[in-house]
Amino acid sequence: MISKTSPNGSRMMSNMHFQPEQLFDLDLDQVTLLALYAHPDDETYLAGGLMAAVARAGGRVVHVTATLGELGTSEPDRWPPASMARRRKRELGRALEQLGVSETVSLGYSDGACDQVDVGRATEQLARTVEEIRPDLVVGFGPDGVTGHPDHVALARWTALATIATGNRTPLMTSAVSSIWPADIERKMRDAGAFMPDYRKPIGDNPVQLDLDDDLLARKLAALDAYASQTPALRAFLGESDFRRLAAIEAFRPANLAARQLVVGSITHVPAGAPVTDRTVSRALG
Ligand SMILES: [Zn+2]
Repeated sequence: MISKTSPNGSRMMSNMHFQPEQLFDLDLDQVTLLALYAHPDDETYLAGGLMAAVARAGGRVVHVTATLGELGTSEPDRWPPASMARRRKRELGRALEQLGVSETVSLGYSDGACDQVDVGRATEQLARTVEEIRPDLVVGFGPDGVTGHPDHVALARWTALATIATGNRTPLMTSAVSSIWPADIERKMRDAGAFMPDYRKPIGDNPVQLDLDDDLLARKLAALDAYASQTPALRAFLGESDFRRLAAIEAFRPANLAARQLVVGSITHVPAGAPVTDRTVSRALG
């Protein structure tokens, strides 16, 4: 649990574990969440529990994928890009259904080539989406791209720039699971080839971890099951128990002041009228 009530009634930080609803200053049924990722299944691994929590409560979740992940196969002769794209799009639809999410947009970029896309064009596209959707929270990749995949890193750049282009008022939280994976999971993910060779995980921060209840975890696992072209290999490699441990971990780093205000608002009592500054935030976040 992230917060507990002290004798004088203010909430105090115990650690950085949050229930999904604690991330918002609105009831979840009022929340609009925008999830921006690169390939179908990124969103489920990294934010599936959060997306399911908002959807379950009756809030709005909009998912955006930059590509359809058409290169994501070890059998490219059997699954050339066009048919792989169709397959993954179907899987994405089924996965989002398990999460309770009905709105999804594919930007139509080529898998593996996001870093060659004109940054201005992609930023403008995402900024328009943010303007239209008016989310209460954007989740997506941070600069490390979780695994260092160039598409993920490109998305991180577009997302950060789109948030800035729309006035930086929308809280942006970036996926930070690799910073908190237990050492054995991290080693296994490394052995599974999940990381780019030059990947360096961010160190020294304390990301916000989400506690997923049993129902949310079940929804997330069902969504991962829907990715029949992707999930079985990693699941077999990790083994069932570690696969579930991996799925249970969701963590985010507040990536702009608006996001830090949300987090600080959840973990500490800020007196009415007191401005929340970056310094307040870094004190509260340790
Ligand atoms: Zn990906």
